Amino acid sequence: MKAKLLKNGMLIDGTGAEARHEVDVLIEGNKITAIGNNLSVPDTYSPGEIDILDLQGKTIMPGMTEAHTHFTWQDSIYIQDIDFKPIEETMIGAIKNAETMLKSGFTSCVSAAARGRVDIALRDAINRGQILGPRMMANGAEVSATGSFVDLHPNHVRVHGLSFLADGEDEVRRVVRSLFKEGADLVKLNVSGESLTAHATGEMTLYTYKEVRAAVEEAHARGKRIYVHARSSDSVKICVQAGVDIIGHADFIDDEAFDMLVDNKDRLFVVPALNWLVSTLEHGAEYFGQEAIVATGYEEGLEIALRNMHRLYQAGVRILPGGDYGFKWCPHGQYARDLEHFVKLVGMTPMDAIVSATKYGSQIMQMEDQLGTIEVGKLADILVVDGNPLEDISVLQNHSKLNVILKDGEYVVRTLEVSHLEERAAV
Ligand SMILES: [Zn+2]
Repeated sequence: MKAKLLKNGMLIDGTGAEARHEVDVLIEGNKITAIGNNLSVPDTYSPGEIDILDLQGKTIMPGMTEAHTHFTWQDSIYIQDIDFKPIEETMIGAIKNAETMLKSGFTSCVSAAARGRVDIALRDAINRGQILGPRMMANGAEVSATGSFVDLHPNHVRVHGLSFLADGEDEVRRVVRSLFKEGADLVKLNVSGESLTAHATGEMTLYTYKEVRAAVEEAHARGKRIYVHARSSDSVKICVQAGVDIIGHADFIDDEAFDMLVDNKDRLFVVPALNWLVSTLEHGAEYFGQEAIVATGYEEGLEIALRNMHRLYQAGVRILPGGDYGFKWCPHGQYARDLEHFVKLVGMTPMDAIVSATKYGSQIMQMEDQLGTIEVGKLADILVVDGNPLEDISVLQNHSKLNVILKDGEYVVRTLEVSHLEERAAV
C-alpha cells in the first residue's frame, strides 16, 4: 500500500482540542505515523511510493461511528416489511447499505439488531476484504417479550423475522446464548415499547429486571455486551440496574433514571436515535396519515427527548449519533443528520458533536487505543472534508464534500488530485 501525505489541512483531531491549521498528516501502511507542520517526505521513499495530497485548508478529521445501525432495515414502511422480506434480498440490500455507510464517512458502526445472521456474515466479509463496509460490531435478531412492539402478527401466525420472542429468564438465556453462539458481538433486547405500535407504546416497560439481568449475565460471561431499546423511565432504570452496556433512546427518563445514568456514565453509552423521531415527524404523515402520527405522541416525545439529552450532555454522559436509518422516510446514507440534531436541537457544540461521533465512537467500538482520534500510532480511518464542520455541521451530510475517505489506510473515496515526489537529485 502506498504511503500518503496529507498536506495543509485544518485538523480536528477528535479529542476535542481546538482545530489546528496548516497541518500535515503522514500515513504509512494502515497507520498514522507523523503529524506536524511542513512535514517532509521520509527519504526512504522513492517517487512512486507516496501520494501527496494538497488539501488547501480542507478539514482532516477521524472517520465517524454510527452507533445505532440496522443494515437489514431497508426502505421499510411497516416493521412487518422487515419481517417478511426474504433473507436473500435482505442480504443483498445489507451489502449495499454497508458500502453506503462507509462512503458516508462512517468508518465504523455498532449494530442495533439485524435479520438472521446477516450482520455476522457482513462483518466477516468486510474484515476479509471481500466487500466494502465499515468496521462492525455485529448484532443478531432482537430479543423481545411476547406482546412487544415487534410482535405484530396474530397469535395463529408464526414469523421468525426480525425478532425472537423470549419470555422468562430461562427463555431469554437460551435465546441470548444461541445468538452469541452464532457469532454476534452484542445482543439487542427490547425492554420498552415503541409508540408506532399501539399495543406496546414507548411508555410501557415490557421486560422485567430478572429477564434483563439474565441477558446481561449471559453476555458478560462471554465478554460480550447487551444493547437495549429503552424509552420509558422504568425500562431505563431496570437496564442500568441490570448492568446493560448501551441504552438506545432513554428519552422518557425521570430524575431518578437521570441520576442513575449520570452515576454510571463511565460505563454506559446512550444512543438516542433522534433522527428516527425527527424524520418520522417530518415525513410519517405521508405514509400513515396525520392522525396516526399525532397518536404516537412523538411531537411531545421529541421535546422530552431533547430536554433529557441536553441535561445528560451537560452532565457528561456519552451520547452518540445513530438514528435507526432504514425506513422509507429515514433512508440509509443520511447518518450525519444526527450530528446536526445534536448541535441544533440538543445544544452540543459542533466540536462536542464531532467528539461524540469519533472519540466516543472508538470507545463504543472498544477500540479506543486504535481509532477515534488522529494521533500518531492510530489506524488511519480519516476523512478529508471540503468545508468546516465547526461552522456548518451539516457539511458532513454532503457526500460530495467528503473528498477523501480512508479506512485502514486505504482509499474508499478520493476525489482530490494526487501528486508525487520529484525525482530526488542524485547525491
Ligand atoms: Zn433501532
